[in-house]
Amino acid sequence: MSNDIPVKQIDPSSEPSNNKSKPETVDLYASREKIYVKEVKGFFQKIRNVSLTLLMGMYFLFVWLTLDGQPLIHFDLPAREFHLYGVTFFPKDFFLLSGMLIISAFGLFFITTLFGRVWCGYTCPQTVWTFIFMWIEEKVEGSRNKRIKLDKAPNSSEKVIKKTIKHGLWLFLALATGLTFVGYFYPIRELIVDIFILDANGWAYFWVGFFTIATYLNAGWMREQVCLYMCPYARFQSVMFDPNTKIVSYDPNRGEPRGGRKKSVDPAEAGLGDCIDCGLCVQVCPTGIDIRDGLQYECIGCALCIDACDDVMEKMNYPKGLIRYTTENELEGKPSKLLRPRTFGYGAVLALMIGAIIFTIATRVPAQLDILRDRGALFSFNGEGRVENSYTVKIQNMSEIPHTFNLAVEGMDDIRILTTTTVVVNSGENRTLPTVVDVPPESITDTNSTIRFYAVSKTDPSLSLETESRFVGPRPRQ
Ligand code: SF4
Ligand code: SF4
Repeated sequence: MSNDIPVKQIDPSSEPSNNKSKPETVDLYASREKIYVKEVKGFFQKIRNVSLTLLMGMYFLFVWLTLDGQPLIHFDLPAREFHLYGVTFFPKDFFLLSGMLIISAFGLFFITTLFGRVWCGYTCPQTVWTFIFMWIEEKVEGSRNKRIKLDKAPNSSEKVIKKTIKHGLWLFLALATGLTFVGYFYPIRELIVDIFILDANGWAYFWVGFFTIATYLNAGWMREQVCLYMCPYARFQSVMFDPNTKIVSYDPNRGEPRGGRKKSVDPAEAGLGDCIDCGLCVQVCPTGIDIRDGLQYECIGCALCIDACDDVMEKMNYPKGLIRYTTENELEGKPSKLLRPRTFGYGAVLALMIGAIIFTIATRVPAQLDILRDRGALFSFNGEGRVENSYTVKIQNMSEIPHTFNLAVEGMDDIRILTTTTVVVNSGENRTLPTVVDVPPESITDTNSTIRFYAVSKTDPSLSLETESRFVGPRPRQ
């Protein structure tokens, strides 16, 4: 289907019947121009290299680590258990995971209000993987100019070899990424073996394939298109900016009027600003924008243009910082405030949420006791003439170790448990125990009495569970 929409130009002064103008076509879509990012070195690039190494290292390493015999991070969907840094979460703990997600969101808002899109520029997986893919491209195909030349050149053995190596390395990294991602849900050691001996289940192949292709396309081909057209955060983050937010900005007061000159020329005498219009800040930009046009939603705050411009300023013997992290207020010569109502608001919510989650996890009882009274029979008399009630006892062990629990009941004279009172519950297990309780008839003072069940761990006596239930009996004897 064509993207061209015919537009008829109408001259209002002419008679409609006499209008002979031909329809014109206006192309509403601009095709993507490939961005050839120039390599740059500098302070912010060093910071990013550290953050990339750390994040990639954590991503590929943590999936292999264990703590007390449990995986450090593992989402065991069939068992509905989530292992996170030595704590096991069950579906009933889902509010904790939701709380952590809310904390992450507020953390992001807080940081964005203070420092703009630092998340996008330094830690977002799309940026991290794209930078690694760009680094591979640079190493295989050479510098920006060489890559442009290579792409324009007709097919040759050199071109085919370089492209094959580049795509091979991209696919290898994408496959390692896909395997690792699925390894957080499927034991990684088994996954690697099962995948390569063709013994994994169909879903494992599907998800490994899906994440391999997604990584290859997003970081290799789509790159800035993901940030520009697919990422919702890019669209709404500007509402978190205010005139005090530190963002990557060009200082037009210092830079304009821009223009080329020799190093020996005094810009003041030549009537020029400090921008020598070299265009390096545009050539290094991974989203292909010109930061001198002002704040743009395409800017991911990567600061590559700062490094490039600082390098130029150094060579020209001008002060650095023509492009820098600064605030709108600073650029207008007004004072900037780090602490302001918005940062206090986000900070307070963040601190409260973190406090609440820490308190909840610290006071979380790693086991749960539930008692269900059997509704089939109200009560019965056993061979000893005592009154019996039946229950289903459920003990869930949410700790990392097995526990042996002693079961007891209190609340009526001479009440006792007739069935087993010792139960071993493994880590993550939910044990169900049919239990019978009886009392002598003379202990019954009401047809419906309150009793309490206790389950005390022999493994860790500080772990003591209790819950209330009812004992139903005949009318008490007068
Ligand atoms: S890198 Fe600096 S000097 Fe060069 S065009 Fe950009 S702002 Fe101007
Ligand atoms: S303008 Fe480009 S290079 Fe500069 S911070 Fe924004 S995205 Fe990075």
